[in-house]
Amino acid sequence: MPVRGKIGVIGGGISGLAAAYRLAKNGHDVVLWERNTVLGGQAAAFPVAGSELEFFYHHLFTSDADIQDLMEELGIADELLWLDSSVGFFADGKIYPLQGATDLLQLDFIPLHDRIRIGLATLYLQKKTDWREFEQISAADWLRTAVGERAFDRVFGAQLRAKFGPRYDQVAMVWFWNKIHLRTQSRKSPLQREKLGYIRGSWNTLINRLGDAIGERGGRVEIGVGTESIAQAEDRSWIVQTSRGQTVQCDALVATTPSPILLKLVPNLPEWYKEKLTSAVYQGAVAMILRMNQPLTDIYWLNIGDPSIPFTGVIEHTNFIDPENYQGNHFLYISKYLDQDHPYLTMSEDDLFAEYAPYLQRINPAFSPDWVRERWVFRERAAQPIITLNYSQHVPEHRTPLHGLYLANSAQIYPEDRGTNYSIRIGNKVATIVQNDLDHGYLSVTRDSR
Ligand SMILES: Cc1cc2nc3c(=O)[nH]c(=O)nc-3n(C[C@H](O)[C@H](O)[C@H](O)COP(=O)(O)OP(=O)(O)OC[C@H]3O[C@@H](n4cnc5c(N)ncnc54)[C@H](O)[C@@H]3O)c2cc1C
Repeated sequence: MPVRGKIGVIGGGISGLAAAYRLAKNGHDVVLWERNTVLGGQAAAFPVAGSELEFFYHHLFTSDADIQDLMEELGIADELLWLDSSVGFFADGKIYPLQGATDLLQLDFIPLHDRIRIGLATLYLQKKTDWREFEQISAADWLRTAVGERAFDRVFGAQLRAKFGPRYDQVAMVWFWNKIHLRTQSRKSPLQREKLGYIRGSWNTLINRLGDAIGERGGRVEIGVGTESIAQAEDRSWIVQTSRGQTVQCDALVATTPSPILLKLVPNLPEWYKEKLTSAVYQGAVAMILRMNQPLTDIYWLNIGDPSIPFTGVIEHTNFIDPENYQGNHFLYISKYLDQDHPYLTMSEDDLFAEYAPYLQRINPAFSPDWVRERWVFRERAAQPIITLNYSQHVPEHRTPLHGLYLANSAQIYPEDRGTNYSIRIGNKVATIVQNDLDHGYLSVTRDSR
């Protein structure tokens, strides 16, 4: 007979929702606290133009099996759409379409010899399935050797710098390999167009269904309630103080916050575990969303390869999802990854738009700020853990050294890159670990069990 306990989940992003759903399904008495006024964390969406749109652009790859399985289980598999994507690269004032491997040969801002080297390196990375040899070498070093300094500087290096800024040369080749490998799996052949997944009505369709499913199994989801402090009682249960002034006692806690927040909540973690938590350095992200009366380009995902442009990419959502879903409006994200002290993390929306507008004109000279009907800015400090050399040795364990305290966050996703599919995977995994610990008596039930 499986043992049941009272389990608290801190954070209502995808990891927390997945963990809480599994635990509630196993019959535990679950309470989830989300400090924001909406569920979903980085994948959350807000109402726009008769539909909903993510704060930060989202899509899925065909290899994202965990999210597909969960949607099937929740009865919403039909809401997953697989659509043609279109990718481009902006350099030397021109958009280069990158739909298939042969498009690499059209990158005429570098000599043909360099384009062939890029094509061969990409092909090699697509075929490679063992990531371990990429753990000990930086992406910059591997790619420089593979394609030469000039091609690296103009193409791969430009992308690495745009995403990781001054830390670009610390990123392990595993991270880059994974990007190429995933995109290949989303194509049936290197010459075919890539298919990407989107959830009809936004990621909120999944988020709301998960929230409901937790409730249907007797769990409680508390939105707008932060976990202010947690402390271990003498009987090794956990005492949680919430921002609403409640005190809640739990047999176990699953934290799904970014690592720096866990460090603040639990300052007495053993040093060796703290070191693992602090070794995960995050890039932040700022997304400006523009609602426009016409498209900027005909590309969904435009990588910026021009170092004078202050953003990382332009993602035109309505070149992926038909504008008819948004009452004919066109939605575009201007994406920027940045360091924690970058001014864009605090700059006003007006100033940020004034900074970006001339560069939108560079991408499409006809662009006029009059095209913009509405705009929003969303910022996230823990957007992308930087995968450094030998990262496997730094990944913090889900079972923390403190009895009954567990962690599931994006710094534990490896060798894959973070994403909602893997947040579901680690949410499922941490729920299984908690159940095993209860069943084997490593975790004791002190009170409130059903
Ligand atoms: C710009 C950008 C683009 C992305 N694109 C994609 C994409 O295309 N496809 C994809 O699959 N993924 C994408 N992702 C990644 C994906 O959204 C995340 O990896 C995933 O949503 C992380 O989920 P999580 O639950 O682990 O963390 P989070 O979403 O960060 O959730 C953690 C939650 O904990 C809450 N919290 C923090 N402290 C407390 C506290 N003290 N008490 C209570 N609650 C607390 C937070 O409010 C938050 O809701 C993107 C992310 C960004 C930033």
